[in-house]
Amino acid sequence: MDNTELRAWDNGHFVHPWEGMAAVGQNDRTFVETASGIHIVNDKGERLIDGPGGMWCTQIGYGRTEMADAMAEQARQLAYFSPFNNTNSIATRFARELAKRAPGDLNHVFFTTGGSTAVDSALRFIQFRNNLMGHPDKKIVISRQKAYHGSTYLAASVSGKERDRLWLDKADDLAHFLPNVNPLYRAEGQSVADFLDEKIADLENAILTFGADRVAAFIAEPILASGGVIVPPEGYHKRCLEICRRHDVLYISDEVVTAFGRLGHWFASKDVFGIQPDIITCAKGMTSGYAPMGAAIISDRLIADIAGNDATFSNGYTYSGHPVCAAAGLTSMEIIEREGILEHVRQVAPVFQERLHDLRRIGIVTDTRGMGLMGCVQCSLDGNKTSLLEGDYEIGARIDAECQKRGLLVRPIINMCVMSPPLIISEDQIHQMFDVLGDGIRASV
Ligand code: PLP
Repeated sequence: MDNTELRAWDNGHFVHPWEGMAAVGQNDRTFVETASGIHIVNDKGERLIDGPGGMWCTQIGYGRTEMADAMAEQARQLAYFSPFNNTNSIATRFARELAKRAPGDLNHVFFTTGGSTAVDSALRFIQFRNNLMGHPDKKIVISRQKAYHGSTYLAASVSGKERDRLWLDKADDLAHFLPNVNPLYRAEGQSVADFLDEKIADLENAILTFGADRVAAFIAEPILASGGVIVPPEGYHKRCLEICRRHDVLYISDEVVTAFGRLGHWFASKDVFGIQPDIITCAKGMTSGYAPMGAAIISDRLIADIAGNDATFSNGYTYSGHPVCAAAGLTSMEIIEREGILEHVRQVAPVFQERLHDLRRIGIVTDTRGMGLMGCVQCSLDGNKTSLLEGDYEIGARIDAECQKRGLLVRPIINMCVMSPPLIISEDQIHQMFDVLGDGIRASV
């Protein structure tokens, strides 16, 4: 089929995530029809390195026959059955494998359809628990500026990206947002250690101001991903957890991006940041993007708190524990293990980070941040770190366009480009990717 016609259909019928109303119906989106390994192929027949890894999710890379076979076999055997009163063995096996890899007593997997519904379910579970425990006023969720936790009403209500909050209603009495934890924006002359103390005080002061009897939970991405790969100062999460424990506030670690190897471990909370949260939310890399799935993994303690009550957790989805998605998740997990992909990430991450930080030599690059196979390059036309010029809003898109001409897709976010390639990327491909990114940035000025 001719793409002109397809494009008209796309404009006429497909409402995309974050659809901009200024150009609605007049977009010129690229069709991506095939992909293999770390490459996608667009409708012009161009083969590009997938810098963003789909949407932080294509861990094992594209085009794996083993994945297609496992999913097809499961669809032939049992494509679907209701998870409400029955169960299926593949989802049960996957739940057990997840619990084995999740830290400490996080043993209870509530399957969802993606990351937003994982966060939503975690928040609803905490509301349910607190109601049952006789704390109906303990409901406030503390989150952070620049956080993204999803697009359901509850998940969006605890998301702190200002531009996303402009035109949509939110449950404003539910959430409180702590100031940006990015050390780049610390006061002039302030040390990182003092900045960290200040961020910890922000959390404790918020809990004390509302009163611990009103604060239910703190939710945090280990690294704020779409907020611009913000890596908080070392020790931040441990100290936040201490504050939460001191005030009986639950800790939700939103690992939708950081789990399944992005930082070289199944889950980053414990293995990278040394914390044992009460709930981990995950999705994306859980199936390497081959099928939509997420989970809220809940601790023994939280379940024990309310076990035996005559109450039902009336929250769940037709597709919770979907057999075909579970087959994708289990097979992806097997591949990650068999091919040593977590070890591979730990091995190549230093090269990725070195090449990322090397970009600081380019005039318009004002900051680079990252960890594992996550990275962000931030730019400003006048080299100013903290404020945006009119033209800065388009820099990300211009860099993406220049990179695409050279064989690399990046994810532009205003004046930033974020990178999270498939975890199977080789050292040579990392060099190739950053060579192009550097050229693309230089050409975009
Ligand atoms: N939480 C985090 C940290 C995310 O980055 C995202 C998506 O980018 C979500 C939740 C929402 O996940 P989904 O888009 O699968 O609903």
